[in-house]
Amino acid sequence: MEPAGMEVAGMGRAGTEPTGMGMAAMEPAGLEPAGLGTEGIEPAGTGTAEMGIAGIEQAGTGTAGMGIVGIEPEGMGTAGMEPAGMVPPEMEPAREAEEPPGSPALPAEPAQDGPPAAVPPGQGALPAAPGRERDQERGRRGADAQGSTGRAARGRARRASSRRSGGESARRAGVTVDSSKAKTSLEALKISLRQLRWKEFPLGRRLPCDIYWHGVSFHDNNIFSGQVNKFPGMTETVRKITLSRAMRTMQSLFPVEYDFYPQSWILPEELSLFVEEVRMMKDNDPSWKPTFIVKPDGGCQGDGIYLIKDPGDIRLMGSIQSRPAVVQEYICKPLLMDKLKFDIRLYVLLKSLEPLEIYIAKDGLSRFCTEPYQEPTLKNLHQVFMHLTNYSLNIHSGNFIHSDSVNTGSKRTFSSILCRLSSRGADVKKLWSDIISLVIRTVIALTPELKVYYQSDIPAGKPGPTCFQILGFDILLKKNLKPMLLEVNANPSMRIEHEQELSPGVFENVPSPVDEEVKVAVIRDTLRLVDPQKKKRKDTQCQSLEQAREGSQELPEAALPSLCLKQVFPKYASEFSYLRLVDRVAALFIRFLGVKGTTKLGPTGFRTFIRNCRLSNSNFSMAAADILYIDITRRWNSMGIEKESGNPGMCLQAFVEAFFFLARRKYKSLPLHEQVLALIECCECRLAALRRKRLVWGCGIAERQEALPGTGTAPGPGCTSPPQPRGHQAFRFQKSSQLKVLMCRDRTGS
Ligand code: ADP
Repeated sequence: MEPAGMEVAGMGRAGTEPTGMGMAAMEPAGLEPAGLGTEGIEPAGTGTAEMGIAGIEQAGTGTAGMGIVGIEPEGMGTAGMEPAGMVPPEMEPAREAEEPPGSPALPAEPAQDGPPAAVPPGQGALPAAPGRERDQERGRRGADAQGSTGRAARGRARRASSRRSGGESARRAGVTVDSSKAKTSLEALKISLRQLRWKEFPLGRRLPCDIYWHGVSFHDNNIFSGQVNKFPGMTETVRKITLSRAMRTMQSLFPVEYDFYPQSWILPEELSLFVEEVRMMKDNDPSWKPTFIVKPDGGCQGDGIYLIKDPGDIRLMGSIQSRPAVVQEYICKPLLMDKLKFDIRLYVLLKSLEPLEIYIAKDGLSRFCTEPYQEPTLKNLHQVFMHLTNYSLNIHSGNFIHSDSVNTGSKRTFSSILCRLSSRGADVKKLWSDIISLVIRTVIALTPELKVYYQSDIPAGKPGPTCFQILGFDILLKKNLKPMLLEVNANPSMRIEHEQELSPGVFENVPSPVDEEVKVAVIRDTLRLVDPQKKKRKDTQCQSLEQAREGSQELPEAALPSLCLKQVFPKYASEFSYLRLVDRVAALFIRFLGVKGTTKLGPTGFRTFIRNCRLSNSNFSMAAADILYIDITRRWNSMGIEKESGNPGMCLQAFVEAFFFLARRKYKSLPLHEQVLALIECCECRLAALRRKRLVWGCGIAERQEALPGTGTAPGPGCTSPPQPRGHQAFRFQKSSQLKVLMCRDRTGS
């Protein structure tokens, strides 16, 4: 978790012990007629000491079910998705086109979705014009740092640079970008825009822009058109507690597929459950000596995080009570490099929610601890520089190394880590494949909630922007190379400078080459992927192939490096789509929400759901449905951390709980995911039948219903109860005015 718009918390200066560790700092029912709804790696190398990598175990152990089915190790390249710099150049003389930008000796690949890269193979990753510009930029910035002429000089140089390229951008009347709310991502955004020669509006613009770049949230601006780089509700969706709940829901359905998220409990509500479960696990295995990490919800940069050995060590006073938190199994055997713990920040682009489109950046950042790692003991539990990899904490350690190289120091590129692992024989193809799986599975867990927020902020049929978002995935590698998800950041820091003490007491922001290398590419390539002009060209198909090719010569894209962002979904959709059950439950939930702009289901909406899906019977009366609604809703609302927690009604996660309850009741002997699938299919089928009925009745041709193919009331595969006699509901739809009103309320629009 990173704070909005800030990089370093007020943690004090070098040598000051951060405060984080050791300080806990984290309608009335029955009003509607039946049927009338508002449906609305020690793999090869055991000589680990020599390797400088402490204790790499067998590759793939404990990663059951993690690999992407159909992606063979040999096929990684062919699958089109290899991490940047994965194999040292000298080890691989010939490679396929799919290689990343930024890996010095690897040839460039043609730009995905775009014109072929004009950069000749082997030339290096940086584009001719933007690259030179970037080098000049770096030179200027380095000189600035030493000479401390500061931002002003950089600003002058950039303005000059902008002027140089200004004429061209005007000529091309490029894409317009409002950067007025970009906050700490501004510098990287500016460089990206210059490389693309797009038009920046740093103070905003009276006319609409094509793209709005927000530093914090969807709501930074009131936007009704174009594209914005945030989804509504993303911050809420990836908060520690919400994420843990979403992951737990998925773990209950697919335990093997979702074993990459550490076992977690939510405090305070699950304190007794946590204590009880740990006691039981210890009873079963007395040799088990776990460690747990307590992380305040909404906390960031390691703030308020502490480690415990015993559940009784949770600090209740002044922390948990005032601040909900997640307590999580601590990963005690992380992969070490140079005896240090490190984690990985990977950038993931959620390009679209519907249809789901996910891209992963081939390179990320590795953030290192600054004290040699030891497994947790009561003596070292409080040593932040040993256990927490946060940049914002470790920068205050005297051992922190700022480096001009991307392969050394306390912050490096992930590709440099992979290079090192690969040269020592680790199966980095499998690792990368496991990371892709982790990312896709995580996004699948997040999308249901996001869709609820989306329809609330941008209701169907209303003007609104389309959204995309860069997410920061924090991943820890276990000793056996299994990637584990720590958290997802809605606002990953896009700063490309860091604070440095130039002389005692004198601090200045200086360029950080490693940040710039990775982050500028991510922002620039995100923009290329969402380029509205490219979309328009594609959409209208107004150019012949020849014209398109000619056009591409004119575009700066032709001179840009290959995209650092690689599509993983829908590319691998066939291997992951079966996981999208909660998505379908969310679709039902949204359908019955009724009132536009809400995220919670009222009692009438829930009753209508039960009734329209015909889920009540002699064993489960409507009164029982009401009690289920009240029980679950009351409990979820008492937790009180959700958006709209003050508002009555059932949130999506509560509805999912109710849905699972109904599925267990109805299909007793099946495993949970099959129970849920069966109930989803039953509901979808019954709703489809209802819709068809309404259509037919709406036309006043109920009699023709049976004559129309596929429109009969006969149940589909998921439907088990007999169809209702036609006359039963036809009776209710006698008045056409009443029918029109009801059909308008049916949000399916059918
Ligand atoms: P924050 O949002 O405050 O940075 P994180 O969840 O990212 O919180 O945790 C901070 C750091 O703590 C991580 O970067 C990682 O080094 C360490 N950490 C977090 N969770 C675990 C875990 N389950 N096992 C081991 N280390 C962890």
